[in-house]
Amino acid sequence: MIAKVIVDVPSSQTDRTFDYEIPAEWDGVIQPGMRVVVPFGPRQIQGFVVEVVAESSHAKTKPIQDVLDVLPVLTDELLAIGDWLAEHTLCFKLSAYQLMVPAALRTKVKKEVVLLAKRDHLPSALQVYFEQNDRIEWSELMKQDKSKVKDVSQAIKAGLLEVHYQVEEKGKTKTERYIRLNENQPSLEEIPARAVKQHELLRYVQNVDKPISVSVLLKDMQTTRQTVTTLIKKGFLEEFEQEVYRDPLAGIEFARTEPLKLTEKQQNVISPILDSLDQKSHKTFLLHGVTGSGKTEVYLQAIDHALKQGREAIVLVPEIALTPQMVQRFKGRFGSKVAVLHSGLSMGEKYDEWRKIKRKEVQVVVGARSAIFAPFTNIGIIIIDEEHETSYKQEENPRYHAKDVAIFRGEFHQSPVILGSATPSLESYARAKKDVYHLLPLTERVHNRAMPHVEVVDMREELRQGNRSMFSMTLFEKLKDRVEKGEQSVLFLNRRGYSTFVMCRDCGYVATCEHCDISLTYHRSHHALKCHYCGHEEKMPETCDSCGSEHIRFFGSGTQKVEEELARVLPQARVIRMDIDTTRRKGAHEKLLSAFGRGEADILLGTQMIAKGLDFPKITLVGVLAADSMLHIPDFRSAERTFQLMEQVSGRAGRHDLEGEVIIQSYTPDHYSIELVKTHEYEPFFQMEMTHRKAGLYPPYVFMVLINISHPEITKVITVSEKIVAFLKRELSEATIVLGPVASPLARIKDRYRYQCMIKYRNEPELRQTLREIQQHFIREINQGQLQVSIDLHPYLFS
Ligand code: ADP
Ligand code: ZN
Ligand code: ZN
Repeated sequence: MIAKVIVDVPSSQTDRTFDYEIPAEWDGVIQPGMRVVVPFGPRQIQGFVVEVVAESSHAKTKPIQDVLDVLPVLTDELLAIGDWLAEHTLCFKLSAYQLMVPAALRTKVKKEVVLLAKRDHLPSALQVYFEQNDRIEWSELMKQDKSKVKDVSQAIKAGLLEVHYQVEEKGKTKTERYIRLNENQPSLEEIPARAVKQHELLRYVQNVDKPISVSVLLKDMQTTRQTVTTLIKKGFLEEFEQEVYRDPLAGIEFARTEPLKLTEKQQNVISPILDSLDQKSHKTFLLHGVTGSGKTEVYLQAIDHALKQGREAIVLVPEIALTPQMVQRFKGRFGSKVAVLHSGLSMGEKYDEWRKIKRKEVQVVVGARSAIFAPFTNIGIIIIDEEHETSYKQEENPRYHAKDVAIFRGEFHQSPVILGSATPSLESYARAKKDVYHLLPLTERVHNRAMPHVEVVDMREELRQGNRSMFSMTLFEKLKDRVEKGEQSVLFLNRRGYSTFVMCRDCGYVATCEHCDISLTYHRSHHALKCHYCGHEEKMPETCDSCGSEHIRFFGSGTQKVEEELARVLPQARVIRMDIDTTRRKGAHEKLLSAFGRGEADILLGTQMIAKGLDFPKITLVGVLAADSMLHIPDFRSAERTFQLMEQVSGRAGRHDLEGEVIIQSYTPDHYSIELVKTHEYEPFFQMEMTHRKAGLYPPYVFMVLINISHPEITKVITVSEKIVAFLKRELSEATIVLGPVASPLARIKDRYRYQCMIKYRNEPELRQTLREIQQHFIREINQGQLQVSIDLHPYLFS
């Protein structure tokens, strides 16, 4: 038999399968989705088996050297997704497959085969390896006899053995000592009647009737290790090691919740979803519900329905919304059926969660973007909450969007996909209007709770009246009022476009990075300037580099500055600040939020990370310090992002019994993206924004492709960019627009000059082929020199 293998060499020339002979002893063992080691030129490298066939068209094939997985790491479905991603994001197949394998398996790790059952349950051929120990190293086993792989893989399928990967410093999979009843129980007379504790303990273990951890046992029984040891010696109990998962949520209590009785409105939106589940037919729904309209409860009950059908569920939430509060809602309803995947987990923790999914120990995954690749095999429903969030798009290769993968999987499993948002992306809403997606509106908050009252304050007017503070009179008064009443406030500061840069007051010189064309950011803790793109750091200058003036200082309004200002004007207020600096340590995010939840502060001050998912009953005021900081970023989506963010932030207020109020401070209060937040009306915003998109010829009226070209020499960048544009203009149809080349907004990063060009098209059958040719044509130059060409289909970042 022949295995078709995608080898671990990311290049255009090797982005195809190579044939390898399957040694006879591995016949039937090697399957698609397994990783193997194969000879490649003079080297031995890893690869993914994607197909097993009877014959090769090549005369000579080399044999596979080693198998890395005893069971496939990728299912047939995930392999298909990989191929599809490679085609649609123009990445290598290898990169697409690697994306779906936990990082822990990609590192070079020791692998052990571990005995799960009793040794005598194993086929006799394998028993000899476990005489001394209940584990043996994989390489050890392989050295003895390659044909063992077949027996091992069967034993694994039967649940007798398991392969452990030794991940990271803390070593190995974590194990604990466990106790179980010995199969042959001695006579009870072996325990003297007066040894009450021993009798109690034995009865306890008999009752539990499954392995029980020694530490739990000792605690539950209030007894000593000695009692256990005696019972082991007498032959009643036996001790063994069992793997325990590293639990990222250890120590967090999740109170169980029961399904709420749905409101009529919720009933209306859930019933088409349940129909889709019952009919096992794929549909994409856009659940457009204002903040607090009860979307999450709808998700929970739809998932419950899928689980009752014996199917599984994937829930995606934006990384920064993956707070304990959010996780709690799913854990509270589905308990240990839930795995959680996010970037805060260590490599080992991620691997553990992945294995729980693989072993079908969980049925629900709640996670950030990459959780869309959860290796479930019977998906009933996929939910993408806050579907407008740009973090669902990966901004490096493979540049995939989780929504596209979700729809692919929904079609594959014939199951519904639900995109939920209070402020859908223009693209999704336009699709819903054209019935490509099925629109489910939830227009009111649960139990007719009022939407928060929004007031927009004109900061130009404040300035005219002599108020130079970062707080308007109104916001200041209201903050003070809340502190006095013992209610809570949230103060939101958008960080993008608002970093603290250093400027000379005399000549206007701004300190910039010497490797990148970007202003340096002032870091108070080191009293230093830092480049956020390349990490370059330098001392805070004492005088201006340009004119020598001493009047050089930092500008802009970071959260630290707001905190200081608050301490000055409202010294009685207790403030919790949440930004990248205060949440860098693992778990800090949760600690700060729960402190705020317990009422340990009056004001929560923060960046984007507080805009989402917060649900605290005592928040009655939300203040936005500078609403338009985002509006002036040169990006056609800046109005959309502003509206979305303002709606999100105001959604934090008045979610419970107390009414909420929002103060938005702005220098452009008349802009429709800010004006329309007052009435919380999405539809007029959509209409207005669509007219702008139409006029400027932007998505959803067209599709876009962004090509980025970079090189240390500017002349080289320009020449190549011009060649690319000329090629595109020649190959693509006349109706397609090719823009550029122009210097990128960030014209230089890490000493590389950057140019870009853009394609706008409606229907372009030749597109992917043409882009592939560009990739391949410049590959030679990439290998030779320093040129980088990146192609982004459906870009979200234009820097
Ligand atoms: P969203 O996800 O749309 O922001 P949530 O699901 O968080 O809305 O619901 C807002 C609040 O209303 C939550 O406190 C939730 O517990 C409550 N809620 C949701 N559905 C119901 C219902 N059917 N009956 C009572 N309370 C509900
Ligand atoms: Zn730099
Ligand atoms: Zn100066």
